[in-house]
Amino acid sequence: MECIFCSIVKKEAPSEIVFEDEDIIAFLDINPINYGHLLVLTKEHFDNFLTVPTELLQKLISRVQFLAGIVKRSTSADGFNTMTNNGTAAGQRIFHFHFHIIPRFENDFKLNLISKNYNDQEMKQIADRMKEFIEKYKGQLNG
Ligand code: AMP
Ligand code: ZN
Repeated sequence: MECIFCSIVKKEAPSEIVFEDEDIIAFLDINPINYGHLLVLTKEHFDNFLTVPTELLQKLISRVQFLAGIVKRSTSADGFNTMTNNGTAAGQRIFHFHFHIIPRFENDFKLNLISKNYNDQEMKQIADRMKEFIEKYKGQLNG
């Protein structure tokens, strides 16, 4: 089955597009967390954050920054969340990578995230393991 966001890019599926350029498109989320909830994505299909080429990702992020300002001003929001879900475990439902920009208003709702505690040893172990992986993969860093 075709990707719904690819269909929107090709104008084969309906959507409320608010911005597009050669590489990037932004349209209203059909089931907004708050009115004005915007989705911003590359026109080309990439599954998730890790597979978008870095140069294109930089362009995407610059558009997300611009559009976050537009969302905030146009909805008179007090703040906004930008987020991306990657993988079903993280709540991703459409596997065409996209940023959410969600306008937020004082006392609208609380994100019900429950935080954990580290003991010192656990924290250091996890940091050390990450640093080992950074050493191993740092050849992939660009920019
Ligand atoms: P995610 O869970 O990060 O994959 O988010 C997918 C988002 O796409 C959800 O917030 C949906 O409400 C939204 N969505 C799904 N289908 C459409 C559509 N046809 N037009 C606009 N937004 C959509
Ligand atoms: Zn797609």
